[in-house]
Amino acid sequence: MTTVLELANVTVIPMEVPTTNFLKSVNFYLVQMDGETLLIDAGYDHESHWDYLQRTLQKQGLKLTDLTAILLTHHHIDHIGLVHRISKQTDIPVYVHPYALPRLKGDPEFLYRSYLFFRHLFEKLDTGDFGREQVKKRYQRHMENKRTALDWNVKALEHKQLFSFDIVEIPGHAPDQVGFYLPEEEIIFVGDLLIDHLRSNAFVEPDFDGKRIPALQQHIDSLKKIIALDPKIAFSGHGKVIQEPAKLAERRLTAIEAKAESFLSLIEQGFSTGREIAMKRHPDKYDKIFSTLMSDAMSFLDYMEAREMIVKKEKNGVWEWERA
Ligand SMILES: [Zn+2]
Repeated sequence: MTTVLELANVTVIPMEVPTTNFLKSVNFYLVQMDGETLLIDAGYDHESHWDYLQRTLQKQGLKLTDLTAILLTHHHIDHIGLVHRISKQTDIPVYVHPYALPRLKGDPEFLYRSYLFFRHLFEKLDTGDFGREQVKKRYQRHMENKRTALDWNVKALEHKQLFSFDIVEIPGHAPDQVGFYLPEEEIIFVGDLLIDHLRSNAFVEPDFDGKRIPALQQHIDSLKKIIALDPKIAFSGHGKVIQEPAKLAERRLTAIEAKAESFLSLIEQGFSTGREIAMKRHPDKYDKIFSTLMSDAMSFLDYMEAREMIVKKEKNGVWEWERA
């Protein structure tokens, strides 16, 4: 466990559950201030994470029922897991960005619209039968998911403040991602916007009209928000605590431009469809993490098109990109 951070009015107790994969750890946090105990994020719905939380609470002389509220940075499965178990035992409020609600509740209409969105997108990216199969499986998985937020005391974050936190919208990695910032202490909980040891991806998703979210542009704007805020410390969803996160955000912005250049160079070499570009970049991962790769590629292609680096043409129902 990382060291407890004791500031004048706030105590942060990080829980970093180690993983054997590239994430290194899944992190969530107990925050004590003004007589309240808050849980920020909730790991995986897994025994080891549950044990970790129980042991940490015990060490602090706390029980589950002492928690005032749970605050979630975004709806991804590695950030919300234990809420299912906690909500079985308590009725504490769970605060999320409004965009997380249809996702967490598994709203059938939302899921169906999302299915249509990805089916159309993957057609245009020329991923053929494989893409169609993947999108169908993804939809079935979501429809069969029984672990929804329907039995949580879930509340939408509707104001710019909650407890002593400023709520900072930092979409890109997820459309509902929020940062929890304590202005006096100059510390922020950033979800997966910034990870010390890896570059987090932006993922395209439909907005409420079914239009594609400019996820990479949002991710860039969110990184710029961190640079403007310039907090002393950022607590991330994975890996180490980040000192001087603005500097890391600057490096991430530079890396994004370099990656856009590498996309451009492939397009100049004649790799023109989404499938060709993704397969050329990651031949070994194409079938393993198909949706992640395509979503990441799409976020870059949208960004580059908006920047007028490339143009898109439609041929036989498929998008082809070339240098602008
Ligand atoms: Zn995560």
